[in-house]
Amino acid sequence: MEDVVIIGGGPAGLTAAIYIQRAGKHAVVLEGNAPGGQIINAAEVQNFPSIKSISGVDFAQNLYEQALSLGAEVRFVKAVGIEIKEGKKIVKTTKQDIEAKAIILATGASNKKLGVERENEFLGKGVSYCATCDGAFFKKKDVAVVGGGNTAVEDALFLSNYCNKVYLIHRRDFFRAEETFVEEIKKKKNVEFVLNSTVTKLVGDKVLEEIEVTDNNKNTRNIKVSGLFIAVGQVPGNGAFENLIKLDNFGYIVAQENCKTNIDGIFVAGDARTKQVRQLTTACSDGTTAAIAAVNYIK
Ligand SMILES: Cc1cc2nc3c(=O)[nH]c(=O)nc-3n(C[C@H](O)[C@H](O)[C@H](O)COP(=O)(O)OP(=O)(O)OC[C@H]3O[C@@H](n4cnc5c(N)ncnc54)[C@H](O)[C@@H]3O)c2cc1C
Repeated sequence: MEDVVIIGGGPAGLTAAIYIQRAGKHAVVLEGNAPGGQIINAAEVQNFPSIKSISGVDFAQNLYEQALSLGAEVRFVKAVGIEIKEGKKIVKTTKQDIEAKAIILATGASNKKLGVERENEFLGKGVSYCATCDGAFFKKKDVAVVGGGNTAVEDALFLSNYCNKVYLIHRRDFFRAEETFVEEIKKKKNVEFVLNSTVTKLVGDKVLEEIEVTDNNKNTRNIKVSGLFIAVGQVPGNGAFENLIKLDNFGYIVAQENCKTNIDGIFVAGDARTKQVRQLTTACSDGTTAAIAAVNYIK
């Protein structure tokens, strides 16, 4: 039986592994893709304390090597469920079943795509899913934000503080965001609403230079922008665990700052849980909290 099985080898899961190993217990991390999680898609990270600038790939690799150097084990396998049988916690994977004294779910989330051609090609070259992460690269430039919820309006507000102009593009003529955010953004002189419209083309040679926007009457307009921030939602990947673990309406695992789920001995860390801010720092913070809770649980 393993001490702690961590599902997901992103920043939250690997940080948890570091703390578990340093507490004298053994961590087995299950990673269904590449170690490091979402951050491997970031061209540059500038907001992790003590590191001025680092590529997402290097950040992920350093974290992975740190966890391995402390004796954590990473198995490249996808977890497909958790069962509790006669009080035993069993993680089901695409290969074998693994019994664990405690489990940490660190499955993260992924950003919803807009589905427009060349979206992947321009990722990190103008297209971003995270204004908090990448906004600072667009100081004094013209940018656009797509979406109509809290994230989109908050992103537009955030960017309006240092970008030259922000176009807020939404397919309806009203926002789903909280009224206070909407009132605030209406006062911003450098924000232009492009409503009843969708982004239909991304134009540029090596980097994004322009977007084509089409309105409900099929009129098109080209807007010159250096950045396009896509804020149309995130998808957590917790469906495999919903028979046991309580999820909210959006699929995030319900937990507070203590990272405890509804099941004793099963914890959650990082973007996978209900929370306000999904960043590296908050994912690593959760990894720490969940690891210490798991170690205390199995003592
Ligand atoms: C393009 C981009 C740029 C970003 N830039 C920044 C930035 O500059 N600064 C910042 O603070 N944040 C940034 N972020 C956000 C940051 O990457 C996330 O907040 C952070 O990675 C969350 O960590 P996590 O471990 O909770 O989840 P994730 O990073 O999503 O990791 C989850 C891991 O779990 C694995 N997994 C999921 N389900 C299973 C399963 N069933 N079995 C096995 N493995 C599974 C996944 O493959 C993944 O590796 C960026 C995000 C993106 C997409």
